[in-house]
Amino acid sequence: MRILIVEDEKEISELLARRLRANKYEVDVAEDGEKGLFLARTNDYSLIILDYNLPKRDGRQVCKIIRQEGVDLPIIMLTVKSELENKVDMLDLGVDDYVTKPFFLDEFMSRIKALLRRPKRVEREIITVGDLVINKNNFKVKRKDKEIYLTRKEFMLLVYLVKNKNRVISSEAILEHVWDINADPFSHTVKTHIMNLRRKIDSEFKAKLIHTVTSRGYMVSVEK
Ligand code: CA
Repeated sequence: MRILIVEDEKEISELLARRLRANKYEVDVAEDGEKGLFLARTNDYSLIILDYNLPKRDGRQVCKIIRQEGVDLPIIMLTVKSELENKVDMLDLGVDDYVTKPFFLDEFMSRIKALLRRPKRVEREIITVGDLVINKNNFKVKRKDKEIYLTRKEFMLLVYLVKNKNRVISSEAILEHVWDINADPFSHTVKTHIMNLRRKIDSEFKAKLIHTVTSRGYMVSVEK
């Protein structure tokens, strides 16, 4: 299991990382909210330990964005008492648990273990837009009764767009979510993949699902 620690106080992040690694967890550490958000979007974590007061983006913002994007994993927030307005506020943010500093490492570890034992909230496996049906379980895509064969990247791109249907998604956002860190932002990767998706999904149908929004990006929707 891989855990992300977002904490600017080195002493704390090192203490936690050491203990977690000793318990056979893989650990990544981000020192600010910006990097934390980037790692949370890029990698597949089992849990995030998120400090409240962080440079660049605070824990509240990071948590909000992660939840808005539909990432559903346990988040445990680190706060000092004065930062904590109230418990309800904390839980409203989509935090699963919180720990106030200073904390006892043993207690913290048992909280983490309790969160990891929780049954995973099941992500919806079938997503749709109009007559297009995507089954994330078996990677099958169908439009009306026609089965559509996609490459792995095309599939990931389509899932990302359909999850964000009716919203304009920029090429940069697509690159960030669907490609890895080393993708060349100046290449025509996104454009080419969108073109291929269109050919496979839209070309034979009168109602188009993938739309280009001039100079802003792409949008999947039933109507333009
Ligand atoms: Ca801090």
